[in-house]
Amino acid sequence: MSVVATLGSHCALQVLKGAKDEGFTTLLVCHRRRESLYRRFSFIDEYLFINDFSEVSNGDNQSTLKESGAIIVPHGTLVSEVGASRILNAFDVPIFGSRKMLLWESDRELKEKLMVESGLRTPKTFTSPDDIDRLVIVKLHGAKGGLGYFLADNPKSYEESLKKLRKSGKVGPDVPLYIQEYVVGVPVYFEFFYSALSKELEFHSIDRRYETTVDGFGRLPASMQGSLLPSYVVVGNSPLVLRESLLEQVFRMGEEFVSTSARLVPPGMIGPFCIEGVYDENSEFVAFEFSARIVAGTNLYPQGSPYTPYLFDKPMSMGRRIAVEIKEAEATGSLSKVTT
Ligand code: ADP
Repeated sequence: MSVVATLGSHCALQVLKGAKDEGFTTLLVCHRRRESLYRRFSFIDEYLFINDFSEVSNGDNQSTLKESGAIIVPHGTLVSEVGASRILNAFDVPIFGSRKMLLWESDRELKEKLMVESGLRTPKTFTSPDDIDRLVIVKLHGAKGGLGYFLADNPKSYEESLKKLRKSGKVGPDVPLYIQEYVVGVPVYFEFFYSALSKELEFHSIDRRYETTVDGFGRLPASMQGSLLPSYVVVGNSPLVLRESLLEQVFRMGEEFVSTSARLVPPGMIGPFCIEGVYDENSEFVAFEFSARIVAGTNLYPQGSPYTPYLFDKPMSMGRRIAVEIKEAEATGSLSKVTT
């Protein structure tokens, strides 16, 4: 049996607990300063200590992981700290899921292409700040969790906010910016699992994010909000269930996404992914992001979500679902279908 491994951050507890429950040996790539945190959990069998997450792709560490028979479950920290192109070209340890999809997730243009071709409604984008004629959110390329994002509603307010952020050092002078229509409504994150073995799509769960400081604005009177710039740094997640009448569309979006990924990025989606967006005033979903791997919102459901009992007879977290898939692939000699 393989060893299931992941980086000690993001959703590591869920992934390794799920793997342990399915009988795997577990391995944590652990930052030295986080050792005392993770040592509290008995389901972590082995550790590979590093001083910086980017070191996981160093030659020695890759050799150690390969020798231990590790399959890495990639999550947001691997993508942000090692980088999708390094994962694709210079990281030789088997990972669960598609490396190419991680690259598409990390590139704004490719990401938008995949979403548009999947038939998802997406916010309008602006190539020049001079064209801003509505409320927009300005994003940094490759940002970590919304850091340095800002809002504007015309070219002048864009310049003013940008100046403020540059002065505070949150946005560097030559950072490329991405300007997108801001969709007012309820932000919702849909978490799916696509089995490359059974070719079936499972809808697992939904979350909302708590982001600082934007989610604190509702606690201030409007007169106090004017001079403040909101930021969008995730601090946690909360659960949500959807009106049942909206569910059919959620499955359709997931299915379209899976078939479009197979066409544009063969062999396509493998395992967990998330479609992220906002329900607008007409209860229509506008998607602004996808993640082609497990997201931290699934940490809400270590025993399963309000939707997983309809699919499974035992408690099923996303981490455990990944382990079930690896186990099934090993049993049928199909590991190459679920790892890249
Ligand atoms: P990251 O992938 O870096 O976390 P996102 O693109 O998911 O960044 O954006 C961070 C947050 O900004 C979202 O969770 C959401 O609150 C808000 N946001 C992003 N795009 C939009 C949009 N087009 N309309 C409304 N809110 C948005």
